This record gives sequence, C-alpha cells and structure tokens, in this order.
Amino acid sequence: MTCCGTGELAGESSTGMLGGTTTSSTGDPTTSSQTEATTSGTSSDTGAGAETTSTQSVTADSGGSESSTGGTRLCGGELPAQWPDGLDCSVPEIAVHRYDANTFILRQSLCTSFEGPFLYLLFGEDRVLLEDTGAGGIDVAQAVSDVIEQWLVDNQRGAIELVVVNSHAHGDHVAGNPMFEGQAGVTVVTPSVAGLSEFFGIDDWPTQIVQYDLGARTIDVIPIPGHQQSHIALFDHGAGWLLTGDTLYPGRLYIDDFPAYVESIARLVDHVPAEAVCNVMGTHVEMTNVPGVDFDFGADEHPDEHPLQLDYAHLLELRDAVEAMDSPQIEIHDDFIVYPL
Ligand SMILES: [Zn+2]
Repeated sequence: MTCCGTGELAGESSTGMLGGTTTSSTGDPTTSSQTEATTSGTSSDTGAGAETTSTQSVTADSGGSESSTGGTRLCGGELPAQWPDGLDCSVPEIAVHRYDANTFILRQSLCTSFEGPFLYLLFGEDRVLLEDTGAGGIDVAQAVSDVIEQWLVDNQRGAIELVVVNSHAHGDHVAGNPMFEGQAGVTVVTPSVAGLSEFFGIDDWPTQIVQYDLGARTIDVIPIPGHQQSHIALFDHGAGWLLTGDTLYPGRLYIDDFPAYVESIARLVDHVPAEAVCNVMGTHVEMTNVPGVDFDFGADEHPDEHPLQLDYAHLLELRDAVEAMDSPQIEIHDDFIVYPL
C-alpha cells in the first residue's frame, strides 16, 4: 500500500522572469551550517495580522492570529476551520486561502483527486516560491497565476520571478510541473537529489541545510529523505511555518526508508527551534477530527476533517515515537499514524 505513486519527475529547469524580462539568476542560496536559533525574520512584509480574504471557496475561518493550534511562536495569519470536504463538488477545483498578505495555501479539491494535496505560495520581495503542483487534472498554473497577478497589483509591481519546488517527487505533488516548465519568469527545480543539490547548492545531501532567500524572506531547505528519497522540508522564517510535505501531516505517514526517516526527523528537531515555529504544515489531511481515526484509504470525501496545521509538539511526538521503535511498525497517534511500508 502506498500513498502516492512514484510519479514522473519534472523535466529540466528553466529560468526567466514572470511577466517581465528574462534573467539568468536562479537564486543565490547560502549555506548555513546546522545553525543558530532562527529568529522571526527581518521583514515586516510578511503581513502579520492581515485579514483573511479567502478568495475562493474556503469556508469559515477559525480564530484569530493567536490561534492555540500553533507552536510556541504566535501565528501571524489565519487558517480555515474547515477546508472543502469533497461532499460538494460545485466548488472550485482549487481552493485558495490567503493566510497573510504574502502567504497563500492552495488545496486541490478532493473531487478531482482523493489525495487532496495542499500547495504553498510564499512571496518574498524578489521572488515567489511555489511548493508542489498538485496531483494533476487541474489548471494549477492558472490558479497560481491568478494569485500572483493580484499580488502584483496589490504591491504595485510589474513582475516577480516564480520558483517551483516540490516537497518530494511523488506524482501527487509534481503532476502540475510541466505546466510551468518553459514559461517565461519561471524556474522549475527538478525534484531529484541531483536537481535539488544543484539548484540550492547542497554539497552534502542529506545532512547539509542551506538557506534560500526570496527577498526579505529566508527559507531553510532541509533534506529529509525517508518517505521518499528526494524529500525536503522548508522552514519559512517569514510565517514561522515548517513545511513538512508528506513526512509529517495529519494522516498516514508512509515511510519507505525507516532509518533515513528517523534521521530526518531528528534533523528537523535539531535544526529548527521550537520558539521559531508557529505551525507545522504538511501536504495532506487523512485524519478525521476524532483522535486516532483516519479516513479510509482513497476516500474522496472528508467530512469533519482534522485541521491541516500541526505544531512543534507533534514533531517531538513523532521523533520520540520513531526513535523508540525497535523495528518499524504501524503506530496510531491522535493526530497522525506512523506507517512504515
Ligand atoms: Zn508522497
């Protein structure tokens, strides 16, 4: 049983400048050596406290900026109490949620794929990063373009470079990559160890952690093989989000390479301090709101779905769980299920 087919890898990288002139720059990552405590970033441009204006179909918003669901760092934006649950398929194929002025979450409708993956769009001053492109069958390029165009209007900008990165190379996260390849202003990072290493300047996979600058918004790129060999986590200093992909989310945590996975979880804990994290954000939800109860595999309706966001305590809970296992075994927790393959 697997969660997600080993989909096709994206093709070669291409570079340009969305909506503007081409550039040869694909970013200038700097290496950080297992570093110092992160701070909340330098920018005020990450839109703390911005009102949520979910532009499409996301329903009621929960609490405010001091959500108790967060980690030890207070969250600066708002998250939906409930995402579209797949019961009403008249909703848009992609739900777009504006978390703050520079941070967006897109969710592919469960009506188009039972995987219902989440995508993240993070704006810096110089470039915008898209994490993941969905499971296919949707016009993700148009949805992303719409968000970028509105951001450009709001920020009185003419163009911004788009960098497409995948949490990992499984098909339900990279299927939309070809829609971005070859577009002016867009760089698609090949989601392989070689492609990631080349683009981000990682010389020592998986132990080296590097930083990538979006312009007044720093992203730490953390290799975390285990679920899949070219899996990365992104720690966004701007929003205080630890983006964990399929490695940690409220669902079945399928583990392909258990020893690598254990090391990867420890790497996350060692590198990212609790006080820097507002939320731990994954790329699926498969748990219900009943502790320890998941939806059936392949379920395309998720009534009373668990919230997307987890917090730092879940990361510690996961670390303790996998480090305590003498041999890999399925273990059900309230908010996730450890699921070695
Ligand atoms: Zn996966």
